[in-house]
Amino acid sequence: MTVVRWAPSPTGRIHLGNARPALLNWFFARRNGGRYILRMDDTDLARSTRESADGIEVDLAWLGVTPDLLVRQSERTALYDNARDQLIASGRLYPAYETEDELDRKRARARLLGKPPIYDRAALSLTDEQKAAYEAEGRKPHWRFKLDGRPVQFNDLIKGPQTVNTASMSDPVLIRADGSYLYTLPSVVDDIDLAITHVIRGEDHVSNTGTQIEIIEALGGAVPTFAHHNLLTDAAGQGFSKRLGSQSISDFRDEGYEPLAIAIMATLTGTSMPIEPYPSLDAIAEKLDFSMISHGSARFDPAELDSLNARLLHTMPYEEAFPRLSSLGLEGEAIWTLLRENLVRFPDIAEWSKVVTGPIEPVIANEDQEFLALAKAMLPLEPWDETTWSTWTTALKGATGRKGKALFLPLRLALTGRHDGPELKSLLVLLGRTACLDRLP
Ligand code: GLU
Repeated sequence: MTVVRWAPSPTGRIHLGNARPALLNWFFARRNGGRYILRMDDTDLARSTRESADGIEVDLAWLGVTPDLLVRQSERTALYDNARDQLIASGRLYPAYETEDELDRKRARARLLGKPPIYDRAALSLTDEQKAAYEAEGRKPHWRFKLDGRPVQFNDLIKGPQTVNTASMSDPVLIRADGSYLYTLPSVVDDIDLAITHVIRGEDHVSNTGTQIEIIEALGGAVPTFAHHNLLTDAAGQGFSKRLGSQSISDFRDEGYEPLAIAIMATLTGTSMPIEPYPSLDAIAEKLDFSMISHGSARFDPAELDSLNARLLHTMPYEEAFPRLSSLGLEGEAIWTLLRENLVRFPDIAEWSKVVTGPIEPVIANEDQEFLALAKAMLPLEPWDETTWSTWTTALKGATGRKGKALFLPLRLALTGRHDGPELKSLLVLLGRTACLDRLP
């Protein structure tokens, strides 16, 4: 059974860059008939909030993802404490008493000597008396994991065979001096406890994977398969960031973008799968293989989002648009079919619908006054259908000799007040004779 997890830190609303692993995990779960766990990485009590966590659930649901299970790390401390005790007992987790200042000085000294700034493991040789003396001083230890210092190899489903050499790393701090857990241990413990089979996440976690595999092995857990995807950047090539207030998923929703358009942009940018309208997330899940994810960069293009969003709307069936249409007081399939072609974002319909419902400001050039007056006089009698437009304009052409733009544009400007817009042959039917007479001079 495939089991994946998406593990956001609830320290703000999620952005497009976060949506990428959220959805790539979903696609993988769907494709393999697996389970999807939403894991809130909320051990950082200073920065995590319940409000952010709730917002993430809302955003994920809006994107179309329904997790099979939600877990919060803040409610699972007992598991981490167990793992902590196990690692202490096996000698892999050790207390260290250096202050931030002392560590800074050590790193500066190493640099002066031309050595890499790796932690010197001084804490490993502290005697019990020295530890007791620190404690008596009121110092609380932080806890480091003792790395094996060997090359850790794993076969990444996206990036291929990887080697992370833990010999070039400092023993990572797993527990802060205040007893709180940093990301690494809870993540690993949960991956083991929840029987995660595949860890799909951003490539900024590749180097963490070495440490994590060592900890999993030290805890006797099964090592999952890893897949690290390229990170999405904004149009300027910068990473999205919650702190910098990069456009969040909820911003896109508020601006009226389609969730499917956001999902497609978040996942297919930087892959060899074309960015085009797909009917559903499942349709993408069926096609997207990890081999299609580029090893290079993935740069988000806002213009491409607009054009994709527009294409999704242009073919959207009436039934799908109906709830939003009726909330705007717009009903009828004909109006939707007429106007959808003009939309970039759904809310644009409020403006476009005025072309049908009015009021509009007819635009009438001086030199067209006479032509339009004739047009008014020649407006066919009802009943009208889709052929009425052609009957009317053919007759006008015969009477005036006007053709092409000179024939059609003054009619459009008078009937809609705009240079472009919906097809006039359909608009005419929706407007009816009375409204047309009103708009013509
Ligand atoms: N909370 C971590 C992050 O947002 C999760 C990383 C992981 O998937 O292991 O980066």
